[in-house]
Amino acid sequence: MSDDPHNATAQQGEAPPQPNQKCIPYTTAAFPLALNPTTELLGGIDPAVSTAIRSNPSRFIAILPFNGGRSFTESNPNFATEVLSLLNSFQYENCGDMQLTRAPWDNKGTVGDPEFAKPWIYILRDAPPDLRAMLVWQQTFSFRSKKGAAAFHALSFTQERRPWGIMDIEPEPGVKHDDNSRSKVLRTIVRTLWHLPAFRNIAKNTQENLSLRLSEDEKVLLATASLRLVTHSRYASHRTPILQLRGKPMFLNDKMHHKWLRIIRSARYLVEDIIRLEVKEVILACTYCKDRGHATAECPFPDFPDWRGPKPRTGTLRKGAAVLGTRSDSGQRRWWGDTGHH
Ligand SMILES: [Zn+2]
Repeated sequence: MSDDPHNATAQQGEAPPQPNQKCIPYTTAAFPLALNPTTELLGGIDPAVSTAIRSNPSRFIAILPFNGGRSFTESNPNFATEVLSLLNSFQYENCGDMQLTRAPWDNKGTVGDPEFAKPWIYILRDAPPDLRAMLVWQQTFSFRSKKGAAAFHALSFTQERRPWGIMDIEPEPGVKHDDNSRSKVLRTIVRTLWHLPAFRNIAKNTQENLSLRLSEDEKVLLATASLRLVTHSRYASHRTPILQLRGKPMFLNDKMHHKWLRIIRSARYLVEDIIRLEVKEVILACTYCKDRGHATAECPFPDFPDWRGPKPRTGTLRKGAAVLGTRSDSGQRRWWGDTGHH
C-alpha cells in the first residue's frame, strides 16, 4: 500500500526555514511518521484545556516526550525548560510569547499502568509560524540537555492522523508465520466481512463511497481493499508472534471510526472452518513513542545512528509500583499525590 502511513516518514514537502547552525545539536534524520491520534494526545487532560485546544488548534503544538506519562512528568520537572532551551537555540524571530507547559491533568485518576498514564503531552503555545512549521516538519527531536538525554515528538493538532491498526490476532501456538498462512488468514477475514450484514451496511456509508456511484458489492470490495496482516514477533509478554490486521481508516468521524472497528473486531473468524481466530483490540503499543503499530521492543527510533534520546522503559516490569501507590479512603488506589480528589 503506497498510502500506508506506517511506511511513511516525517519531513514531507518542502523544508521550512531551518534553525541557526549554532543551535543545540539534535538528530536531523527523516524519522518514521508519528501516528498519534488527537484524542489520545488530549487524553487525561483537564477538559477545559482540551476544549481550548480543539477550538483554536493552530495556536498550539503537542510536545510528546518519549517514555511520557505521569511517571515521566514527576521525575523530569525540568523537561519544559530543557525543550525551551533547544527551541530558543534555533533562533527564530518572535519567540517572545512562546510558552511550554505540562498539560494540566483532569481529576479522574489514572487508568492502566500508572507509570505511563495520560496525559502524556506538554503544550506549546504561540510558537512563531517558521518555528512551528519546522517543528511539525521535523516531527521528532532527540538531543542532550543539561539534565541528560531527551527526545520528543512535536505534533500539530490541526491534522488528524489515524493509525491503521484494527485488531491484533493471537494465532494458535504452532501456526506458521509464512506468507502462505498469512494470506489464508487474511482471505478468511475478508470473506467473513463480505458476508457480514453489519459490515456491508457500514461499507456503503464510508467517506469515499458516499461520493461514488458504485454497486453494493463494489463498495464492500473497496472497504476491504487496504486490509493486510503484519506479523509482530517481539511483543514483550507474548512468546508467540502476534498478527495485526491493518487497513485504511474509512471514517474521519470518531464515532463512525469506532463503530467500524467494533464491527470488524466482533466478527467471528473461522480459518478453514475449524480454527477460530483469537481477536483482540490493538494491544500492541509502544510505551516509548506511543505508537500503536509496534511494541516497545520494536521501536525504530532508538536504532537511528545519531539518536540522542533516553532509553526506552517498559513500565509494568517495575516492581515498586505497589509501593508508590497509596490507598485513599474510598479504597481506590491513588498513585500520585496531586491527582486524587477522592
Ligand atoms: Zn515506538
